[in-house]
Amino acid sequence: MSEDRENRENRDRLRIAVQKSGRLSERSLDLLRRAGLAFRSSGDRLFLHGENMPVDVLLVRDDDIPGLLVEDNCELGIVGRNVLDEQRLAAPERPAPKELQALGFGGCRLAIAVPDNGTIASIDDLSGKRIATSYPALLGDWLRTRNVEAEVVLLNGSVEIAPRLGKAHAICDLVSSGATLAANQLHELVTVMKSEAVVALSPHAQSAAIAAQIDRLCGRIAGAQSSDGVRLLMLQAPRSALPAITRLLPSRNPLSVLSLDDRPDDVAVQVLCSDALNWQHLEELKRLGAHGLMVLNVERMLA
Ligand code: ATP
Ligand code: ZN
Repeated sequence: MSEDRENRENRDRLRIAVQKSGRLSERSLDLLRRAGLAFRSSGDRLFLHGENMPVDVLLVRDDDIPGLLVEDNCELGIVGRNVLDEQRLAAPERPAPKELQALGFGGCRLAIAVPDNGTIASIDDLSGKRIATSYPALLGDWLRTRNVEAEVVLLNGSVEIAPRLGKAHAICDLVSSGATLAANQLHELVTVMKSEAVVALSPHAQSAAIAAQIDRLCGRIAGAQSSDGVRLLMLQAPRSALPAITRLLPSRNPLSVLSLDDRPDDVAVQVLCSDALNWQHLEELKRLGAHGLMVLNVERMLA
């Protein structure tokens, strides 16, 4: 047994890899904090020691996260689906990390974009053309399934200037607002994949202790995430106004309706609302007879 493997089997702390600095870093660490993890930074800022749970955080480049999971250096990672799927398709022979849950941030799409004043107007027009990308496996797979014979040109940065440099006729790159494309006189032709940050799991079997930690942390992450943007609306109203109030609520969740001891015609209502609950909603509810309206942020939820 290699020393590495022996170390792992003796390990009783869960390791989760997150992006050290970039678009996903802040939201990833914030999510872990909201999942209840408090951590202390090591001197080199590569490792955060979990102080209140047996969980440590590795701070790495996002591209390294799938490899760390495959090599079993850590059990969980927070990474863009684009990075995870690219590495899975690029090395189909090796065990692949599994996507456990989507996190609702880091949203973007991998899209093929073409010059504004060019001749490419449809997917068919891509045949025989060169497409520059940092995602050769995802693009190659997409082209194959659509029977488009285009040449994939691998570029590791500044993909969006490839057409102007004459290196490619089109690009395939990550887009969120589209501002970078517009600034380079490019527009989207088609979406290759939709991506967001996800929790990924190592493909290796875990000890019972680590498996229990994984379940616990993932349950908390799901809870922290599902409480994101959720509000608890509380109000009192005449019992007779309840049907009209229910119709107006921006929520399909079941209501809790409580009787009030000293006012038999009134009820107290509580309901979770995940949609925007604005002043106008409250004013309309008030017009229907509701009073004592209160909107509270929901910090934690455990199903
Ligand atoms: P690293 O130094 O860790 O390698 P990076 O430059 O590769 O960083 P970032 O630009 O920070 O990575 O992007 C990280 C992830 O954020 C992407 O893989 C993607 O999942 C997501 N993302 C969301 N919107 C965008 C966007 N507009 N452009 C690029 N990535 C985006
Ligand atoms: Zn990267």
